[in-house]
Amino acid sequence: MSVHLPWETVIGALAEKGWSARVVAAARLSDLHSRVAAVLASGDLPEAAAARIADDLSWALPQGLAAARSVIVGAVARPLTQARLTVGGTEHAVPVPPHYAGYFIVPGGLAEAASAALAPFGHRAVRFEPPLKTLAACAGLARYGRNNIAYVPGLGSYLMLAACASDAAPPDDAAWAKPLPLSRCERCSVCQRACPTGAIRAGRFLLETHRCLTFVNEDRAPFPAWVDPSWHTCAVGCLRCQSVCPENARVELLVDPPQVFDEQESAAILAASGESGLTPATLAKLELCGLDYSPDIIARNLRALLTG
Ligand code: SF4
Ligand code: SF4
Repeated sequence: MSVHLPWETVIGALAEKGWSARVVAAARLSDLHSRVAAVLASGDLPEAAAARIADDLSWALPQGLAAARSVIVGAVARPLTQARLTVGGTEHAVPVPPHYAGYFIVPGGLAEAASAALAPFGHRAVRFEPPLKTLAACAGLARYGRNNIAYVPGLGSYLMLAACASDAAPPDDAAWAKPLPLSRCERCSVCQRACPTGAIRAGRFLLETHRCLTFVNEDRAPFPAWVDPSWHTCAVGCLRCQSVCPENARVELLVDPPQVFDEQESAAILAASGESGLTPATLAKLELCGLDYSPDIIARNLRALLTG
């Protein structure tokens, strides 16, 4: 007779560490793979967006876990961060949306917390990187907004997602279903009206990815001619549709204190073509505010933001 792991104890322990989490059977990953492949095959995405998703298809269950039987997907609240640049004696506070700071390290916290909670039962968890939004939606943890962003009860969209695989058997009633939109989206068009680029369309739930500023300013390609410089509000990404969304109205957006860059540091950041021109102290502060993305892309974005 198999002994069932008390998953509610594990989920409770994760909640104490700030993670809202769900558990699914590892066998569901083939369906996840198919769903992502179908999006690629739909031809609905621009080439560059499809290439980014194709990267997601290269994910695999983590090495070092003999038999992954379950997958834990979690969401944790993340703060808005800020860089305060100094240019010509004037300070400019530049916001960075919540999911950038800690992008490389925060997701590891889920595996760490899950391993600690599973250890008394003789199991462990290892981080891995499947397509997180689709996984969270299929697991019933998140719903999609019309802006194509994942929303989790209690966190709104100000969050970071993470996943880990475990050798523990999943709960018998582990949910798995088609991703759902937010119910509110049926009678709401606030984000559509707030989006300056037309990326959110009336009669279509799928975002026009290539029109989204987040896609544009995370990409290395020069900004398309149709991008009005005055649309830029963040050092990378865009918060317009999230900040107006009624689903976020009752969620407290945490705001970290700004990382301050003096005149010399700011000039180096704005001229950066790689990390070599930046001091370790500057790089450390950039990491704290979520701008350890790619120095040349961030430099381009900040120049556009400060001169737009
Ligand atoms: S602003 Fe309205 S339509 Fe847009 S994601 Fe939020 S609830 Fe949905
Ligand atoms: S992130 Fe900005 S550009 Fe993209 S859909 Fe939302 S408001 Fe539009």
